Amino acid sequence: GTSATQSYIGKEARYGARNYAPVPVVVDHAKDCLVWDVEGRRYIDMMSAYSSVSHGHLHPRIVAAAHRQLEKVAVMSRAYYGTTLGPLLEKLSEVTGFERALPMNTGAEAVETAIKCARRWGHRVKGIPDGQQRILVARGNFHGRTTTIIGFSSEEDYRTGFGPFCGGFQHFDYGDMASVQAAATENTCAVLVEPIQGEAGVLVPPPGFFRELREWCTANDVLLIDDEVQAGLGRTGKWFAFEHEGIRPDALILGKALGAGLLPVSAFCADDKVMSVFVPNSHGSTFGGNALAAAVALEGLKVLEEEGLVANCAAKGEHLFRRLREVQAEVKPLIRDVRGRGLWIGVDIEPSCTTARDLVERLAAAGVLSKETHETVIRFAPPLTITYELMDEAVEIFRKVVVQRHR
Ligand code: PMP
Repeated sequence: GTSATQSYIGKEARYGARNYAPVPVVVDHAKDCLVWDVEGRRYIDMMSAYSSVSHGHLHPRIVAAAHRQLEKVAVMSRAYYGTTLGPLLEKLSEVTGFERALPMNTGAEAVETAIKCARRWGHRVKGIPDGQQRILVARGNFHGRTTTIIGFSSEEDYRTGFGPFCGGFQHFDYGDMASVQAAATENTCAVLVEPIQGEAGVLVPPPGFFRELREWCTANDVLLIDDEVQAGLGRTGKWFAFEHEGIRPDALILGKALGAGLLPVSAFCADDKVMSVFVPNSHGSTFGGNALAAAVALEGLKVLEEEGLVANCAAKGEHLFRRLREVQAEVKPLIRDVRGRGLWIGVDIEPSCTTARDLVERLAAAGVLSKETHETVIRFAPPLTITYELMDEAVEIFRKVVVQRHR
C-alpha cells in the first residue's frame, strides 16, 4: 500500500532536483518545539531548520504580528518607505550596537553584501586598487551557496564542477593566528569568519583567537566581518557569539533566526564609516526589507528579549550539554566528542562505529529530529523555547538509540 508518507516522498523524488537527501519524515504541522508528520506521529524538533526556528514553530506573537501586517501591506519593495522597516532597523541597531543595517533575505545574500561592502571599503577608504582587494576566509568555512561563496569553500562537494570561481579570497586555518598573518597581504581588506564553524561540525575556536584576530585587524586596518547567520540572536547563550570572545567586530551578518521561524530575513550590520560605501544604485534586493519580513523580524527580536529566550539559553544549553556528556560516558568510544555553546551542540561519532546519518535516521524513527553535518557530527540546535522536560525526553531517546547501536 502507499502511505501518505510514501506518496509525498514520491512526489519530491519524482519531480524535484536531487540536491537534498531528506530524512524520510513528511512534516505536516508544528507547534513550538513539536512537529507532527502526515501519519500523526509526534517528534521533538532538535534542529529547528538549521537553527532558524529559535522562537519555536509559529510563535503566537510572531504569527499575530504577521497577520496584523497582512491586513495592511506585505511587499512594496524599497522604492518607497514603509512603517515596519525603520522600526526594525532601529531595533537592530539597539541589539547589535551597529549604527546601520542593510536588509536582505537569505544568509548567503547578506554574506554577498558583506563581500561587496568590504571590497568597496578596501578600494575607497583603504586605497587598494580596484580588483586587487583580498578577503581572508577560514578553511572549513560555510557562508552559503552562491557561486562567489562556494568559490572559497574548502569542501569539494560544494565546488566540484561549478567553476570558474571568483578570485580575491585567501585561506587561513581557523583558530590559528600565525596562518592569518601568513595569508595577509597589503591588499587584505577584510577577514570574513564564523564565530563558531557550524557546518564544519560545530567547531568552537580556541580561547583568545578572536581577541588576537581583533587586535591584528585593528593594527592592520582590516575589517573583521563576523558571520553570525547561525550563531547570532541568542543561539550561543548570548545575543551574539562575539560577546563570548570579549570583542566587537566591524560588521555583523545575521540571518536564519532573524526571520523568527516564518520568513527568510537577513541583514548586514555595520557602522556608518563602513556602510557609507553603499549609495543609491550600488546594491539592493527586490524583497529585502519588505514590509511583512520587517514586521516579523521586529516582533521576533522583541520576543527574544521580552520572553527571556536569550537570557535562558545558556542555562538550558549547559543542561543539554551535561546530559549529552553523560550519554557519551555511557557509550565510549561511540561518541568521540560533545562540543558547542548554548543550544548549539555537535556530537561527534566515531566513524568505525557508525555514521552520523545512521543515528539521525534512527533518532527520527524514534521521535527526535536532528541533522548530521559531514559523516561524523550530529547537530542538536532546538528552539530556544525548549523546556527542560522536552530536552530530557530527547536525550533519553538519543541515549536508547546510541546504546542499542553500541551493542
Ligand atoms: N552563513 C552561515 C554561518 C551559515 O551557517 C549559513 C547557513 N547554514 C549561511 C551563511 C547561509 O545562509 P542561507 O542558507 O540562508 O543562505
